[in-house]
Amino acid sequence: MPDSPLDLADLPAIEGDVLDDEPALAAAARDWGHIVQARPRAVVRAASAADVAAVVEFAAARGVPVAPRGAGHSPFGQCQADGGIVLDLTGLARVHGGEGDTLVVDAGARWQRVLGATLPRGLTPPVLTDYLELTVGGTLSVGGLGGASHHHGAQTDTITELEVVTGTGELVRCSAEHHSDLFDAVRAGLGQCGIITRATVRLRPARQRARRRQLYYDSLGTFLADARTVVKDGRFDYVEGQLILDDDSGTWRHMLEATSYFSLPHDLDEAALLGDLADDRDAAESEEMTYHGFLDRMADGETVLREEGSWFHPHPWLNVFLPDDEVADVVTETLAATEGADLGDSGLVMLYPIRADRLSTPLLRVPSSELVWLFALLRTGRPYDPEGVARMIRLNAELAERVRPLGGTVYPVNSMPMTPHDWKDHFGGAWDALETAKRTYDPHGVLTPGQGVFAPG
Ligand SMILES: Cc1cc2nc3c(=O)[nH]c(=O)nc-3n(C[C@H](O)[C@H](O)[C@H](O)COP(=O)(O)OP(=O)(O)OC[C@H]3O[C@@H](n4cnc5c(N)ncnc54)[C@H](O)[C@@H]3O)c2cc1C
Repeated sequence: MPDSPLDLADLPAIEGDVLDDEPALAAAARDWGHIVQARPRAVVRAASAADVAAVVEFAAARGVPVAPRGAGHSPFGQCQADGGIVLDLTGLARVHGGEGDTLVVDAGARWQRVLGATLPRGLTPPVLTDYLELTVGGTLSVGGLGGASHHHGAQTDTITELEVVTGTGELVRCSAEHHSDLFDAVRAGLGQCGIITRATVRLRPARQRARRRQLYYDSLGTFLADARTVVKDGRFDYVEGQLILDDDSGTWRHMLEATSYFSLPHDLDEAALLGDLADDRDAAESEEMTYHGFLDRMADGETVLREEGSWFHPHPWLNVFLPDDEVADVVTETLAATEGADLGDSGLVMLYPIRADRLSTPLLRVPSSELVWLFALLRTGRPYDPEGVARMIRLNAELAERVRPLGGTVYPVNSMPMTPHDWKDHFGGAWDALETAKRTYDPHGVLTPGQGVFAPG
């Protein structure tokens, strides 16, 4: 809570809007997780980086917490500010073009919009998340992973420059060459040291089409072996995996999603790509679509989930990274203990490997292992069932605790309480640099309280 009551009349004049009506405050008190609710005193819809700078300077002088908010798809209050100011960045969404193989874009733009600007140039961001309606600033604040991460790392590894408003309201451009401490503190920095207002994204050539294959395995061991092979040799452009529970038999199937991009008239050599893989070939599925259609494949799923309502239900999600030599044991044990009710009706389990040598963002903490596995239990709770949701959150905390001594880490888009002590453990060798950057760039401790990384100033 702020040092003193916030008088909105004192806010500096800005181009955007200052809102304190009930619908605006109620919307900013929620997020996609539908678990945590913290009501701000005001919502500011920023129209420019200057707006962001003015509001943060104002808040810093008064010790008022400020939470930047992109698409609000956080699962556990990460974009909320109890009694403070939520800075809605979705109006800061211009695409500014770019030279050669780069694109400069405002941080409130959704990746869907970014792709819409790059594809006509025959270019694409190297890594996209599975869902394109997340904002640039929102995913760069956590890392941003997808099926192309085994080639190109996290989205934070594909950024060449950022424009950032620090916790004192200063507008700074940073990159690996200039203010590199700030660059390293904001990429996957959970909004602790600055609010990203603009990003320069490195692009690569886009192909026109995608062939998506879903390869099924009865045995976890065979699935893991094939996933390792294809990620190490890089034969596919995109690799992810899902573990699917058959509710009737209680058994799990393992699905490797392996996609290749290509442009006509060239075709793909399926025999060479699939010949040595040990999946149940009779069960394999393959479909072809446009490159954009593949990347935007969650759009149909979103429509269905919205219609059936579960899009608006609680989402007690857990994402952890596992080292390669522990993945088989941890996943076997976890699946054996997981029933349909632990995931919820539209719940999903994902598992895929990423080459650690492609990940270079200092604050994205991953196990020391040649391959790291993203293991995600994307649970959906029932509405009006706080005990059920609390149980799912407990399961999350137990699994995160179980993997820690094995060298596992969390990918921090989770529904699970984390204390500053937990965060210090999590950041490990990167903690000192983050703490120093926090003192330097957010000396009043006002930025992004919902992450709980630092004790309230
Ligand atoms: C359906 C769905 C699919 C997903 N798929 C993937 C996936 O494939 N890969 C993946 O890596 N993640 C995935 N995620 C997780 C997602 O990347 C994170 O939750 C992300 O932070 C959400 O972006 P957002 O724009 O909604 O951010 P918000 O929820 O608005 O904010 C997230 C955090 O970042 C801070 N923040 C927001 N904007 C800024 C900014 N400009 N500067 C500094 N801090 C900021 C907020 O205060 C908050 O702490 C998915 C989430 C959902 C709901």
